[in-house]
Amino acid sequence: MTQQGEAAAGRAARAMVQKLESLHGAGVTHLGKVPWDEMRPVAAAIAPQKTAEADRRSAALAVVAREVAACTRCPELARNRTQTVFGVGNPCARLAFLGEAPGADEDRQGEPFVGRAGKLLTDMIEKGMKLERKDVYILNILRCRPPGNRTPLPIEAANCREYLDRQLQIIRPEFICCLGAVAAQNLLDTTVSIGKLRGRFHDYKGIKVLCTYHPAYLLRNPAAKRPTWDDLKLLMDEMGMAVPEK
Ligand code: SF4
Repeated sequence: MTQQGEAAAGRAARAMVQKLESLHGAGVTHLGKVPWDEMRPVAAAIAPQKTAEADRRSAALAVVAREVAACTRCPELARNRTQTVFGVGNPCARLAFLGEAPGADEDRQGEPFVGRAGKLLTDMIEKGMKLERKDVYILNILRCRPPGNRTPLPIEAANCREYLDRQLQIIRPEFICCLGAVAAQNLLDTTVSIGKLRGRFHDYKGIKVLCTYHPAYLLRNPAAKRPTWDDLKLLMDEMGMAVPEK
């Protein structure tokens, strides 16, 4: 970045801090939509820095992905997989969705949450939360499909934990949404049921964690969609997003 660019970024950042401080002084604790005219100079000033940071994180993730692609720590999974399923999305995402393990569609396509459950997750993100799928990061406890979509074994989750933690260290999300009991219990190292974990925030190494039902469970149990939407609204509120009534 040039000296002029840095100076412009500094000025824009100071202006934004002043604006935020004045809003805070006026009692504003959450920001919904800030007028784009006010954000435009700030966005323009910090865009080059954001791009450079995204490139740096993408490169770091690519290093881990190469190790994962060659991983044989779980012999049965390595033998049966079509390919590893690493994770997808914005390397600078504020929010990461954590699932259980790849299924048949994911194993075939090499991307998490692309089958029917994946389509429902995309709807939850885009139609419900008004975010774009590409703006969040999506990953799983396991990077290989368990045969027959069986539940991951504890040893498999332990084998793959290093990769999960390295991905999270690179992305540094502020929020993780655990989808289903396997994701929640493994991440938080607990045996508490998903019904008791959901509906409130937990902490994982300084990251705020919200647990809710897995989209595959919602396909089988449509009645669970209402409490799941309540969880997502809780998450949106904590993220400072506008929460729709419906
Ligand atoms: S599940 Fe994870 S640890 Fe096990 S073989 Fe696949 S990449 Fe390696």
